[in-house]
Amino acid sequence: MSPTVLLVEDDRDLRGTLREALSVEGYRVSSAASLADAHAQLMHARERGGIDLVLLDLGLPDGDGETLLASLRRERNTAVIVISARHSDDPKIRLLDAGADDYLVKPFSLGELLARMRVALRHRGTLVQAAVVRYEQYGVLIDLQAHRVRRDGEDVHLTPTEYKLLARLVRNAGQVVTHRQLLADVWGSEFSEHTHYLRLYMGQLRAKLEADPADPRLLLTETGIGYRLAEPPQSALPEAFPAAPARRPS
Ligand code: CA
Repeated sequence: MSPTVLLVEDDRDLRGTLREALSVEGYRVSSAASLADAHAQLMHARERGGIDLVLLDLGLPDGDGETLLASLRRERNTAVIVISARHSDDPKIRLLDAGADDYLVKPFSLGELLARMRVALRHRGTLVQAAVVRYEQYGVLIDLQAHRVRRDGEDVHLTPTEYKLLARLVRNAGQVVTHRQLLADVWGSEFSEHTHYLRLYMGQLRAKLEADPADPRLLLTETGIGYRLAEPPQSALPEAFPAAPARRPS
């Protein structure tokens, strides 16, 4: 069945454009132009199996889209991507920490949005199924089950902390993980402000895994927010993941 998307956006033109484009891609799209409308749509959808993904604008006529996040967090299988014109890093971090899956700043390309949606949906699907345990990209193979990292066929030796950090990113491959989330999960919540640890260890990981550590393709920096492990090729994903929605014949 095609994934269901709720588009919460008060800009009529953008809402129309996105609705049309997502329908063409095979998503079942409903839309809301206000917070009240979004709440009503979610209630309505709950009776019919819920919404798979919410695209959430922040500046809405009756309040901030952020207030919807708390109630959405209770819907465990609903992914949330914030789409907003706000540029400063601070709300991004707060929203990601509050449980948004991703954050796109307007204007964004449709291709970028679709890619982020695929990742977010796949990730939500994995919470109840198999987690990502094997990642392969740019000659680097990370096998969490075998506890092994190889680059161009050669074993790469990682320290326990380097491995823990890398494994955390593999489990969310393709998604941004905030500094705070990484520090809490790898070092412990009491270290959540120690971002210099991350800079140091990411530098070490890049030196061991990237062809050009100064221009990383694998371990990507989301400036001021966190890090993202490059999205793996679709074919490398385990079969347990739900497939991307089929494109309608044109
Ligand atoms: Ca708006």
